[in-house]
This record gives sequence, structure tokens and C-alpha cells, in this order.
Amino acid sequence: MATFRAPRGTRDLLPAERPTWQRLETLAADLARRYGYRQIETPIFEESALFERGIGDVTDVVEKELFRVLPSRGEERERWALRPEPTAGIVRAYLQHGMHTLQQPVRLTLLGPMFRYDRPQAGRYRQFWQFDVEAIGDPGPAIDAEIIELAHRFYTEAGLTAVSARLNSIGDAICRPGYLATLRAYFEPHAAELPEEERERLATNPMRLLDSKDPRMAALVAAAPRITDHLCAPCAEHFDAVRRHLDTLEVPTVLEPALVRGLDYYSRTCFEFYREGAEGQQQALGGGGRYDGLVELLGGRPTPAIGFGLGLDRVVLALAAQGVASVPMERPAAVIVGADPADTPTRLRIATNLRAAGFSARADLAERKLARQLEGAAREGAHFAVILGDELAGGQVQLRDLEAGTQRLVNLADLPRELSRAQRQHHHGA
Ligand code: AMP
Repeated sequence: MATFRAPRGTRDLLPAERPTWQRLETLAADLARRYGYRQIETPIFEESALFERGIGDVTDVVEKELFRVLPSRGEERERWALRPEPTAGIVRAYLQHGMHTLQQPVRLTLLGPMFRYDRPQAGRYRQFWQFDVEAIGDPGPAIDAEIIELAHRFYTEAGLTAVSARLNSIGDAICRPGYLATLRAYFEPHAAELPEEERERLATNPMRLLDSKDPRMAALVAAAPRITDHLCAPCAEHFDAVRRHLDTLEVPTVLEPALVRGLDYYSRTCFEFYREGAEGQQQALGGGGRYDGLVELLGGRPTPAIGFGLGLDRVVLALAAQGVASVPMERPAAVIVGADPADTPTRLRIATNLRAAGFSARADLAERKLARQLEGAAREGAHFAVILGDELAGGQVQLRDLEAGTQRLVNLADLPRELSRAQRQHHHGA
């Protein structure tokens, strides 16, 4: 029947699914508030150059997955791209609005859709949602642990069990070059056996070989030199301190020496979250790291920063996999029904008054038999029906408890109070 379908890699989040999402959105906003992060919104599209520079030309996200926007006219052809991640836009806003003059760190949070033009599959979409948190202007290590603990708390309070943080340090501009040379020297003798894509990376960005999804690489990667054995003293000290703080905060962590972010502006701490037993490629629940070089790269003064992005689509999938019940749709407190079509204005007014008092109320506006109207109210799961009948002349209506099947006469003026009381009894009885 339908001529059009949602584009490949996108989904409609239907009314039955939204309450579960809403719960996660509320949790994200509340956690961010508790930890002192302020909300920011940035445009869903930015100049492509921001992502090319800010994320890096040689990452998959930019090389293959950037969702470019082609306006139908004007000079701006090809200049824009949908955001594949929020950090670049947030740092752009930090600089544009002079947030470096505020007290540092500036703690910012954003929740919204991201876009990557990748091959869609289970858990990988072209439009997906992230809960993102960034602390700009603090070199750590304490804030690194604080932010990782915040992410971990999100999963726990969402209801996921057995989520742990995989943790690594990727060094800094002092120690990484030496490590890269060691890594290149390690892989070079195997260059001929490497898959073509990996061979190219060996020249441009050898750390990305560690990140390879190619099963032929697994053994070679497992035996590769580890960055944590090549950290300079300040980086090693930073990493030790992050781990100590995480122990203090009781965040379960697993050291993961192959966890890398192959970009120059990333430094030191990086992390990713998985649920035990669900550690496949499309199952990372979130990730983040320190990006001490990014602010400078985008034109600011050298400014240390750290952040994470959690994938809400994946969290929803993980909750379902874990058997956590989805949040039911809200049921109306009351449906206002009546046999006499001439009562419609009164039904509307009563519904309006109840809504003004904060209730979810619906007037049955279809002109149909009372029994049909009551059936409709029951099918919607309404707690109560307000029934207009002959008593209306005396300013009274029947308040019918649809679950208990009982009803009683109440004064119209008392309806909100009576409804509150009846609802409270419902909750206690339930
Ligand atoms: P990344 O910036 O790639 O580390 O992504 C951060 C998090 O966003 C990941 O850990 C996933 O939870 C989620 N994510 C990334 N890409 C996708 C995608 N295409 N579809 C769904 N979730 C994604």
C-alpha cells in the first residue's frame, strides 16, 4: 500500500517505542544536570571542512561515511555535511562564542541524531542518536575518570547490567611518534601479507591497523607492540592516575591495548563500553577519549578536553536483549463520554478543565453509542470514564472506574479533586 518507505538505514521510532527512548533522554538530561553539564544544541549540518579537519581525512567517518548535503542551487554546493558526531560542532561553537573566557572546564552536553553514510546492518544505522558529553579545558586525569564514571552510570541507571569500560592510553605528541615508528617496523615485514586496505594504512596511519576489522589481522594485531609499553613518563603517570580514580569510583574497567583512535589530536585516555557477552563490532555502546589537540586544530589556543558519545540505538537494543521491559505508552486518566451528541461542548469543556489541572484527558468526539465510547476508552487503557447523563442538569457526572467496574456520582466542580483521589487509590490498590 505504501509508496514511500523510510530511507535505508533509518527508522521511524513509533509511539510504542518512544516512551523507552523518552526515558533514556530524560535520564541523560538528568545525569548531565547532576554532573554539572549544560545543554547545547548545534546545527545538524556544518561545513564539511569542519569534519574533514576536525575528525580527519583519513578516518572511515570522513573518508567513506560523510553524509554530504547538496543544496539545489547557489555557491554553497558541496560545502555542507550532516554531522557524523557532535564533538567537532561543539568545539566549533566553543570557539565561535568565546567560551574559553568562561571558567574552565566548560561542561557541555548534547543529545541528538548523527548521520553516517555507511552500509546499514543490525545496530548500524545511517541516522542514529547519541548522548554526548564534553568537558573542555581540563587536562585531567581526575576528570577523565569522572566522565567515564558518568557514562557508566548512564548504562547502569538505564537498567543494563555487566557493562564495563575498555580502557587505553594512546600517548601524546611526545611519545606517540616513537611508538608509531615501532609499530610500522613491526608490521613492515608482513606488508606483503596484509590486506590491501591495511597496507595503505601502514603508510598513512599505522595505529589504525590495530583497529582493523579484518579477521586476517587478528593474530598479527594480538602480538603487536603495545602503546602502553611506550608511553612517556607524564603519559604513563596520567594513565595510572585515571585507573586509580576509576578504581576509587568502582567503575569496572578492562585494559585494551588495541583500542586506538588513530588521529593526531586524540591523546592519552580513550575508552569504549561493551556489555559482557555482547562484544561484537556493532555492539559498542559508546566511546570517547581525550582530544587535547582539537581546539588548537580548529583555530583556538591549545586546550585540553575530553568527551564521549553513547549510542542510544544500541542501548535500546541492549535493553531488549537483556529482557528489560519497554516503557508502556501513557494511558489517559479519563475519557469523557456521553450518549447525547448535544453534550459535545460540555465534553470538550470538561476535558479542557481536566487538562488544565494536569490530567491526560480525552473527550470522545465521535457521535456513537455510549457503549461504543466506553469500549473505546477501555481499549485505550483509560483509568476512568467521565459519563455525561441526565445528572448533568444538576451539575453532576458519573465517574466510572474502568478497571474496577464501579462508578459514583461526583460534582463537576469537584471532578479534578475526585479524579486525583481515585487515581491515588488506584495506585495504592495496584
Ligand atoms: P564512535 O564515534 O564511532 O566511537 O561512536 C560512538 C558510539 O555511537 C558507538 O559506540 C555506538 O554506540 C554509536 N554508533 C556509532 N555509529 C553508529 C551507527 N552507524 N549506528 C548506530 N550507532 C552508532
